[in-house]
Amino acid sequence: MASETHRLGGIQKDAVNPSMMTPLQDAWQRIRAKLRTEFGDATFDSWLKPLGVLRAEGSKVLITVPTRFMCDWVKTHYLGRIIDYWRQETGAAIDVELVVSVQAPTTPGPAAVAPPPAARPNGRPARADGQGEDPEGAAADTYSAPLDPRFTFDSFVVGKSNELAHAAARRVASSAKVQFNPLFLYGGVGLGKTHLMHAIAAEIRARDPERKVLYMSAEKFMYQFIRALRYKDTMAFKEQFRSVDVLMIDDVQFIANKDSTQEEFFHTFNAVIDQHRQVIISGDRSPSDLEGIEDRIKSRLGWGLVADVHPTDYELRVGILQSKLEAMGRDDMPNEVTEFLARKIVSNVRELEGALNRVTAYSDLVGRPVTLEMTQEVLQDLIRSNDRRVSIAEIQRHVAEYFNVRLSDLLSARRARAVARPRQVAMYLAKQLTSRSLPEIGRKFGGRDHTTVMHAVRRIEELRETDSSLDQDIENLRRTLET
Ligand code: ADP
Ligand code: MG
Repeated sequence: MASETHRLGGIQKDAVNPSMMTPLQDAWQRIRAKLRTEFGDATFDSWLKPLGVLRAEGSKVLITVPTRFMCDWVKTHYLGRIIDYWRQETGAAIDVELVVSVQAPTTPGPAAVAPPPAARPNGRPARADGQGEDPEGAAADTYSAPLDPRFTFDSFVVGKSNELAHAAARRVASSAKVQFNPLFLYGGVGLGKTHLMHAIAAEIRARDPERKVLYMSAEKFMYQFIRALRYKDTMAFKEQFRSVDVLMIDDVQFIANKDSTQEEFFHTFNAVIDQHRQVIISGDRSPSDLEGIEDRIKSRLGWGLVADVHPTDYELRVGILQSKLEAMGRDDMPNEVTEFLARKIVSNVRELEGALNRVTAYSDLVGRPVTLEMTQEVLQDLIRSNDRRVSIAEIQRHVAEYFNVRLSDLLSARRARAVARPRQVAMYLAKQLTSRSLPEIGRKFGGRDHTTVMHAVRRIEELRETDSSLDQDIENLRRTLET
């Protein structure tokens, strides 16, 4: 190393002032800036900032990487781009070789310009949940991520789709004895897995502050692990896990295809389970369906209780909205708006909450009470993406059938009352149940003008007030169309 750094090193010693940098370092600084722009601060700080330029050897540039693991990672993920940039810089067919060495970036040279990695080990963006926080020289107890105080059992609304996961979570949280190990919770995004994990952790801590609960995302696990490797601090890292009573790892799918992290995760997992301590894991699919995870890990993950969280149904969505409204202290939300949201935002709970927040924030902002119209307006984009289910063609078909008229008549120019009324109903339902605009609806009804559609919608709204049998018809139609 000493002799290797000699050539550049001699210059670097005096290169405190960036303007005195060698062309090589100079180019490297520009490349670093491009890499940061391309990959973003978080990635750059974690993976690229610790790299240092060592020297040139013919047409090859040697770049140092602090650990073997990072070397592999950088090689598979970023080396191609690094080479591209070197070629751009020099206009020559430069090749780049990565050299594992802890030394380079902390010696003067590039480090004189950019702070050494140790100066700010945490390059990840701060997240609202504080999971990105990683204070300097992380003391032992900072390994666990902070819990979101809103994610409790009290605020979790139970329905058919999540009752098993909820019951299992409750059981684990309330019992000091290990019942099933691990508990594996899985399901699609935004369905409450993290909420349940936090609720379990909070409950256990509240019941017995002595029990040591360690909760972190798999992503954070990997980050901490790599950091520990980089700063040669793996002892403390491992020690943390080995002394916990409850180990919780969220979103385990994140470690798919990340071999060394999986390896470490597996050791950690086994060590905790072997000591009969509780392990709780979440993932986006069942253990056997996890891709990019070693078979022996998948199999072990499925040893305990596997509980899935299904997509929500309508009743649960209404329940969740009501509970959120209560928590927000809002009792001014018309039922038709709550029902509309529960019918329309079906993708996941996070989006449902987002929709509710958007509507209430908008109403506060403009100082007007929430109405159905306002909701439709404010949530146009969301509704569109959740809306794939009912099409105008389907509405037309159902309406024609219901009123016993021919579909072709419904779309024709015929004005006979027997056809005109069902047509208006179909237009009204198209407006209510899809996010199509009035002109779009008009086009689908034999190329009618948007004012015709508007008139139809108004007319039916009026009639629903006075004609209870028509009102019932529409309600029936709506129900069949939406299920
Ligand atoms: P996941 O981890 O499964 O992606 P989260 O736990 O982050 O989903 O849930 C997303 C949002 O939806 C959170 O704000 C959470 O509080 C809320 N949420 C999900 N399910 C429920 C539920 N059954 N009751 C109340 N809130 C829920
Ligand atoms: Mg989650």
